[in-house]
Amino acid sequence: MIGIFGGTFDPVHYGHLRSALELKELFELDHIRLIPCAQPVHRDEPSATAAQRLEMLQIALENQPNFVVDAQELERSGGSYTFHTLEKLRFDYPNEPLLLFIGRDAFNEFTTWFRWRELFNFAHIVVITRPNSALNPLDEFFKSRLTNDKSQLKQLAGRLFFQEITQLAISATAIRGMIATKQNPRFLLPDAVLDYIFKHQLYF
Ligand code: ATP
Repeated sequence: MIGIFGGTFDPVHYGHLRSALELKELFELDHIRLIPCAQPVHRDEPSATAAQRLEMLQIALENQPNFVVDAQELERSGGSYTFHTLEKLRFDYPNEPLLLFIGRDAFNEFTTWFRWRELFNFAHIVVITRPNSALNPLDEFFKSRLTNDKSQLKQLAGRLFFQEITQLAISATAIRGMIATKQNPRFLLPDAVLDYIFKHQLYF
């Protein structure tokens, strides 16, 4: 079973890294792929370049077994669509269940995503929730796919699953804000990533 964790990672921080590790353990994943988007279609342009965001992820995950930094969205031209990413992974791993992890906020916008219904043909969708968060009512399309039985995720794709995890109160926006106002964000992200940020004078 392979997990897929996308984001802008501008920059990657311990909120992302702890979640990815927790998810890898909870679902006993063979590996989890962190996939930086080249050109987000649902949000503003990131501050660091795509190549820099990729490099920070690679630095953060150096020597971490079972974490894969996947640069495929940077290798495609144009906007980054989850549809193309999952289509490629399904092709590369025809016999592996795929779990696409998305945050609650992203799930609320899910029906605006490019060919969103077809994403269930490629992967299961696992929505990451905070403890005790209320759920919006689901429509029929989602209800028919919803399961709380983890063993159903052994199928290749097609299910909707909600998973509570610990979420550290860290955001990339806050880290960028701290750097811009000369506060020190050390201990919110790996030292090696912060050294990279200072060396390349990002977010000042
Ligand atoms: P920004 O502040 O720039 O919006 P971010 O810190 O939210 O960035 P993203 O790269 O947008 O990071 O997030 C990628 C994924 O990581 C999303 O699915 C998001 O829900 C999740 N995520 C972000 N911060 C945390 C956190 N502190 N704990 C757990 N998951 C997180």
